[in-house]
Amino acid sequence: MIKKDLVSKGKAKSLYSTDDDGLLLMEYRDDTSAFDGKKKEALKGKGEINNKFNGFIMKHLQQNGVETHFVEEISPNESLVTRLDMLPVECVVRNIATGSLCRRLGVEEGIKFKDPLFEFFLKDDDLGDPLINDNHIIAFGWGTQEEIDFMKKQTFLINKVLCTLFDEANLILVDYKVEYGRTSEGLLLGDEFTPDGCRIWDKDTGESLDKDRFRKDLGDVVESYQIVAHKLGMEI
Ligand code: 5GP
Repeated sequence: MIKKDLVSKGKAKSLYSTDDDGLLLMEYRDDTSAFDGKKKEALKGKGEINNKFNGFIMKHLQQNGVETHFVEEISPNESLVTRLDMLPVECVVRNIATGSLCRRLGVEEGIKFKDPLFEFFLKDDDLGDPLINDNHIIAFGWGTQEEIDFMKKQTFLINKVLCTLFDEANLILVDYKVEYGRTSEGLLLGDEFTPDGCRIWDKDTGESLDKDRFRKDLGDVVESYQIVAHKLGMEI
């Protein structure tokens, strides 16, 4: 596989074309950002742990009926993925109330939902990724009704599969964000699943082991990602 041109550079990952038109190379960098890019820092080793973490989760999802764009890890901080045409929306599922939900609605932190809660956000840093609903997606042509239905169904399936995985490791999957993209055959889970885009709490202590450590200046960010990886049984 030959790494060719830079296709896009996000806040924590870069995408490169390859000698295969249908495949992209996803490079995980140490760059870490929060608050729509307003807080930034390079954390040594984060690219590598996130590449491994993502590979482990994507493979687990694939084994449990969730098709993804992930193909294989090709270096400590690079993976091959299927080329997708990404939808400009983020799908968030919440099992426990925290973060922007509590700020937006003034509800108490820590409420456990009987059924998981689903939200769409528009991917737009300049606007601060605003909350949107199904009608916005249809009205502005960001996706079809069929795609909305698929994203909800698939994101809830991901929740079921991953809540079990995390629970068995004595961890709580509090909430997470996923993104989807189009292929000629329909939507596939794209982007990444790492502690950069989800909240994970230790079941015994309630300690945050995810990017909230960076957002809240708690320190030991990469070390916490490694603790989660170890508890989930990853070889790191
Ligand atoms: P909240 O809406 O509470 O800020 O975030 C809900 C969940 O989605 C959290 O797990 C958070 O990490 C994730 N999330 C929301 N927006 C983004 C984003 O733009 N990038 C990343 N990496 N994760 C996000």
